[in-house]
Amino acid sequence: MVPLKWSEVPESLKALAARMKVVLDERVPVELAPRWLGARALVAGGGRRGSRIRLGGILGTRLSPEALEGVMAHELAHLKCMHWELLLAGSSLAAVVGIALALLVDVSVVWRLILGGGVLVLGTAIMSWLSEYEADRVAARYVGYDVMTLTLRELRDSGFRSRAEFTHPSDRSRVRRLLSRRSPLPSRD
Ligand SMILES: [Zn+2]
Repeated sequence: MVPLKWSEVPESLKALAARMKVVLDERVPVELAPRWLGARALVAGGGRRGSRIRLGGILGTRLSPEALEGVMAHELAHLKCMHWELLLAGSSLAAVVGIALALLVDVSVVWRLILGGGVLVLGTAIMSWLSEYEADRVAARYVGYDVMTLTLRELRDSGFRSRAEFTHPSDRSRVRRLLSRRSPLPSRD
């Protein structure tokens, strides 16, 4: 991991974080993982360090500068919307709902466990997917829909996430969703 100081962070990223009102760690706002294909927002951990963005070097070399800006905006949007905190709270709630349902139904213990666990897993996956779509939408408000669409298309074309995963929808689905949520052009009359 290569830690970057503020003085080493590109001006465009500093400006983007300021516009989005996201406060990153004073000492290490960004860290580079040279051999990683990905990007992630890391939340502040118990006073030891502030929030930071981890960027994979392999991803960095595959994307255009515009798409990289889109990736950064997406990660900053996760921090701005407090997605990790919401996900933690939401999955705790899903666990409680799962237990309550499992106690209510009149089936064997095995089926109760399957039902309780299923509610937790499904609830967490749905919340995680919604967070991803929301981060794309919020990012688009700051870097523009064109940049965000380009970002998702470049990710899709580079084979970044061609299939949906437990925590993330596929890139193809993110492009579709972003385009469908784009506000229509103002009418001329
Ligand atoms: Zn994300």
